[in-house]
Amino acid sequence: MENKKLTCISCPEGCILDVITDDCCISSISGNKCRKGLSFAENEIFNPARILTTTVSIGSEDYSRLPVRSNIAVPKKDIFKIIEELKKVKVKAPVRMGEIIFKINNDYKASIIAGMTIEK
Ligand code: SF4
Repeated sequence: MENKKLTCISCPEGCILDVITDDCCISSISGNKCRKGLSFAENEIFNPARILTTTVSIGSEDYSRLPVRSNIAVPKKDIFKIIEELKKVKVKAPVRMGEIIFKINNDYKASIIAGMTIEK
């Protein structure tokens, strides 16, 4: 058994969750004001994921780096591997905000998309 304290970020309320886990699941949770707190804690403990934000190289008259992000949260364990792959990516302007820059080759079908428009 393990005790964890988490802040739920599913809404602005920011409940402080006291969670007790065993090897496979949550055995007790308190501090959550709604049921989303339980699913947040389950994901955060057993399958943590984040939106990845970084930059990639771009061939442009005005910019050398393009801000990018993942279109969905990606597992935290994969983030450094994806960043290594993105170091090899070079985009050529023009590029539109939201345009797919790179498809992550993994089960969860995430993509990296442009965070801004660069015309030239
Ligand atoms: S537990 Fe519910 S009320 Fe509290 S932060 Fe999470 S979503 Fe918001």
